[in-house]
Amino acid sequence: MDHFDLIVIGSGPAGRRAAIQAAKFGYEVLVVERGRRVGGVSVHTGTIPSKTLRETVLNLTGWRERGFYGRSYRVKQDISAGDLRARLHMTLDHEVEVLELQFARNKVSTVYGEARFVSPEKIEVKSEEGDVKLFSADKFILAVGTKPFRPDYVPFDGEFVLDSDEILELNQLPRSIAVIGAGVIGVEYASIFSALDVAVTLVEPRDTMLDFLDHELVSDFTHQLRDRGIAMRFGSKVKSIEKHGPGECEIFLEGGRSVRSNVILFAAGRMGATPSLNLEACGLEVDHRGRLKVDPVTFQTSVPHIYAAGDVIGFPSLASTSMEQGRIAACQALGEKAYDPPEYFPYGIYAVPEISTVGMTEEEIKERGIPYECGIARFRETSRGQIMGLDTGMLKLIFSLKTRRLLGCHIVGEGATELVHIGQAVLNLKGTLEYFVENTFNYPTLAEAYKIAALDAWNRMGPLKN
Ligand SMILES: Cc1cc2nc3c(=O)[nH]c(=O)nc-3n(C[C@H](O)[C@H](O)[C@H](O)COP(=O)(O)OP(=O)(O)OC[C@H]3O[C@@H](n4cnc5c(N)ncnc54)[C@H](O)[C@@H]3O)c2cc1C
Repeated sequence: MDHFDLIVIGSGPAGRRAAIQAAKFGYEVLVVERGRRVGGVSVHTGTIPSKTLRETVLNLTGWRERGFYGRSYRVKQDISAGDLRARLHMTLDHEVEVLELQFARNKVSTVYGEARFVSPEKIEVKSEEGDVKLFSADKFILAVGTKPFRPDYVPFDGEFVLDSDEILELNQLPRSIAVIGAGVIGVEYASIFSALDVAVTLVEPRDTMLDFLDHELVSDFTHQLRDRGIAMRFGSKVKSIEKHGPGECEIFLEGGRSVRSNVILFAAGRMGATPSLNLEACGLEVDHRGRLKVDPVTFQTSVPHIYAAGDVIGFPSLASTSMEQGRIAACQALGEKAYDPPEYFPYGIYAVPEISTVGMTEEEIKERGIPYECGIARFRETSRGQIMGLDTGMLKLIFSLKTRRLLGCHIVGEGATELVHIGQAVLNLKGTLEYFVENTFNYPTLAEAYKIAALDAWNRMGPLKN
């Protein structure tokens, strides 16, 4: 039996960063991956595929040019599922290659197969061919991620009623799609399909969506979706789903309405991928969604030599945060120095249009009773926005009235997920309104919106008093 300093189960963003960090310290590390290739959900079914799909759709449809040439502008008239898949496979192959190279360069060992605990210090790894090998380690990091939640009342068939992993394998573009679940994944796919001129209905049992975002931003975003013709059936629970024939699906909602579509995407939640780990053998328990509980600073589970990171520990369930959690968990597990992450991290939603946000929302600030002022800029107010033909897009900054410090930065529109990093830097470096007012920005850029929003707030806050 081979023994390692650290065994990492899962090669997604959390596992990958954990393993490479540990190897850089000189430890013997083994990564166990049950998929055919390394990379996890992030590379194979989640982040990278959905973002590649989005980019392909925006390019082939000519979406970014429509503000200028009108809504009927198209780069390619008949876009097929094959057109969308071509770029996807190229991107994924490249991502896997980079990752394999990183593992090889850093001397991280990998084994393919499903890991399960046989005792607190030992795992058994079963390959696809059925070979079983035993490994032991001083420390473990569980980075097994999640799988789509598939409730029994949904008649998944891999062709017309799909989860968010299966949607990438569509053989044909549907004429209409109903997306159940207006969370991040549902909203991203709904808006991407709508950009492809597919008729979209978004079904959500709650009355609102994306509640963790600043409400003004969500309201702007919702308006844009409705304006594009996305139908929203909010506040309606799904009662049942029926398939009348191939490409003829119907969702029956409580309250009497129904939604007909060619395809249904069920995107309401994910479950921790913990059942296969045989956690009883190491003394760990999971919650009702299969997630593990950890110390929020050290990522240590209730079993001292076992740590967990990434989606399997729950919110925020992002590739970006999972990577940092994995790295910190490795440092903590191996007794190496780990720096606390900055207070605020950005959240990116790659819908069409993009949304990105960092810091407190206006609702949170109000709740905390902090006196504040907001400044808003519309992208069309910037010269760059005019050049790009943008008629939508906004940036909202929130400042403290007492300290003038930036408290929150919220963006919806083209480039939001890149632009937000300016706000993130100012926020974490404890910058104030004066940073934006007194600094020169490249011209013409969308980043100028920061200055415009800051000046908008300045108009009400007045100059800095000595
Ligand atoms: C459609 C979609 C879009 C997304 N978009 C974004 C985005 O734009 N930005 C962003 O930051 N995040 C995004 N995410 C979230 C992101 O993909 C996840 O946060 C991230 O992949 C979590 O990383 P992880 O390392 O925790 O787990 P995962 O990436 O899920 O990897 C876990 C790995 O563990 C392996 N594994 C599981 N059990 C075992 C076992 N018993 N033995 C061996 N191996 C095992 C799995 O095969 C898998 O490879 C998206 C997710 C989805 C589904």
